Amino acid sequence: MHPHHILRVLFTADDIAGRVDALVGEIGRTCAAGSLVLVGILRGSFIFFADLVRGLFYHHLHPRIDFTLLQSYGSGTESSGTVEIERDISVDVRGTEVVLVDDILDTGRTLHFAVELMYAKGARSVKSCVLLDKPSRRVAPISADFVGFTVEDVFVVGYGLDYDSYYRELPYIAELTFTHPGAAGGQ
Ligand code: 5GP
Ligand code: MG
Repeated sequence: MHPHHILRVLFTADDIAGRVDALVGEIGRTCAAGSLVLVGILRGSFIFFADLVRGLFYHHLHPRIDFTLLQSYGSGTESSGTVEIERDISVDVRGTEVVLVDDILDTGRTLHFAVELMYAKGARSVKSCVLLDKPSRRVAPISADFVGFTVEDVFVVGYGLDYDSYYRELPYIAELTFTHPGAAGGQ
């Protein structure tokens, strides 16, 4: 049973599938086939990541894949600015072309941290792909190279994104309205 929040669908499963196809095409045209490493930022990106990886097969891209679990600490919807590595990648990215994949680019602190981390590990180039972008919330100096949809400053769930670990299984993306003013958050 879900907690009782109000959901408003922003992007249907078909909308998402169409955009993911287009993103796969963009990545396929932009990235070299040789040394590509796709790094998913857990947990919110897991469904998006899986769809992207399967799509790349049809563009004859056969990336190595890995995941990192990054936590941005803070209370409520506001992250504190401190990003910590809960789980690091194990693939050696030295000299490779890395594409970081995240669910949503919000303040940008997480992705900014992840880009710096990949360069520090010796990646030759680092690009980023996000399903959703909330440019109005940006704090860190970063924009993504590949963006699925731009959204207003609303809290969204579904297609991997959670509220309190719920809602990740929704095949669509919905705005979640809190029935009482409380803390929201997600990774
Ligand atoms: P940033 O470091 O860009 O502020 O935070 C990005 C992370 O915050 C995302 O990867 C995601 O885990 C979480 N986040 C930001 N906005 C939302 C949202 O609207 N819904 C959910 N479920 N998570 C969000
Ligand atoms: Mg996340």
